[in-house]
Amino acid sequence: MIIVGGGIGGLAAALACGQAGASARVLERAAIFSEAGAGIQMGPNVTRTLHAWGLAEDLKAFGFSPRRLDAKDTQTGQTIGSLCLGHRSLDMYGAPYLTIHRADLHRVLLQKIRDSGLAELSLHSEVQTVQQNLDGVQLRGTNLPAGLTELSQTSALVGADGLWSRTRQFVLPYTAPRVTGMLAYRALVPMQSLPEKLRLQDVNVWLGPRVHAVLYPVKWGEFLNLVVVVQGQTPPHLEDWDHAGKQQDLEAAMGPIHSDLKGILDAVPAWRLWPLCDRAPLQGPQDMVKGRIALLGDAAHPMQPFLAQGAGMAIEDAAALANCWQRLDLPMSERLQMYAHARWARNAKVQQRSIRNGQIFHLRGPMRWARNLAMKLMGESLMDIPWLYAGP
Ligand SMILES: Cc1cc2nc3c(=O)[nH]c(=O)nc-3n(C[C@H](O)[C@H](O)[C@H](O)COP(=O)(O)OP(=O)(O)OC[C@H]3O[C@@H](n4cnc5c(N)ncnc54)[C@H](O)[C@@H]3O)c2cc1C
Repeated sequence: MIIVGGGIGGLAAALACGQAGASARVLERAAIFSEAGAGIQMGPNVTRTLHAWGLAEDLKAFGFSPRRLDAKDTQTGQTIGSLCLGHRSLDMYGAPYLTIHRADLHRVLLQKIRDSGLAELSLHSEVQTVQQNLDGVQLRGTNLPAGLTELSQTSALVGADGLWSRTRQFVLPYTAPRVTGMLAYRALVPMQSLPEKLRLQDVNVWLGPRVHAVLYPVKWGEFLNLVVVVQGQTPPHLEDWDHAGKQQDLEAAMGPIHSDLKGILDAVPAWRLWPLCDRAPLQGPQDMVKGRIALLGDAAHPMQPFLAQGAGMAIEDAAALANCWQRLDLPMSERLQMYAHARWARNAKVQQRSIRNGQIFHLRGPMRWARNLAMKLMGESLMDIPWLYAGP
């Protein structure tokens, strides 16, 4: 099995499929394996999968277990709803809700692959074109390892090459990702640099008119991870998604905010700016697999980050791919069809709910008051997501 892309999705696929008996090789175009960006949240649906791969101790070492999620109003500072996470996640879903720096998660996956020798890893290897016929799959690109450009009928190509996937173009007609018009400002703040009352042990989601901010600890609680999403002018060169951001532009887009939130923003040493792009929800299994080429993670279903499950769905994809790989009684194309049938509807549902969450988060006027009231009255039952956390 050849996996194009060594992000969280590609490494998860290499580990899971390696454990299932596949001989997997990851081709990564970058010079080193690394993850830019900041934190991610992982629901119990995701940590359960990672535990099953033998990563429970690593997650304990690198993850942070927030006690609860509080939703607050950006203007009044009032808490409008809360969901217990810590023990409740363990009791209800049998696995923890964790926050982690994405570089730490990436490192944990990479280390496990290296220690176990379950997959081979090639850097500087960029796949450019893929051809598929009855005999197999041929790859062309830069610095591809000798002997790996022709895949036999019994092998498969997995495109885990992210939002701007090249592999996707050999599964589906080319379309560019959608530009959402939303910008994510991201930062890490040393917890010690914050006034005592602003240091967090929890996930805070601040909701305001056309703006929201998500805050949670990472790195053993030593840093606060911030993501603030606003409407704004999308920078050019979208594929270079990581831009420097200016606090004054962010504050202008946010409008008036409560002094606690302002106090946290003022402690930010530097902002990074990510224009948010996505794709329409998957329509069926044909959007994930063609013959012996399968798509996984953002290559298949990039989503708005408002359910905090993009990497989570890539990890679930990897587990499903490994399960189907084990059906050695079936031809490869049928195993990949099983994978696509197992995954497409859940991925589409998460994509849809992510879009809907963004709309709810950014409500204005009377709808905003109605949302706040509903969250106050129904709290936990509105904020918990059993179909997601108990799955897949
Ligand atoms: C603001 C924000 C917040 C988020 N928060 C969360 C969260 O809380 N929880 C969560 O689960 N998810 C979250 N996500 C989503 C998550 O970051 C992504 O869904 C996830 O990282 C996708 O992983 P991937 O491996 O599919 O793709 P990528 O991380 O994009 O990896 C693709 C890899 O493929 C390589 N590559 C690309 N093209 C080629 C090629 N032609 N040949 C070889 N290699 C190639 C790239 O170099 C890269 O290493 C968030 C996203 C954003 C934008």
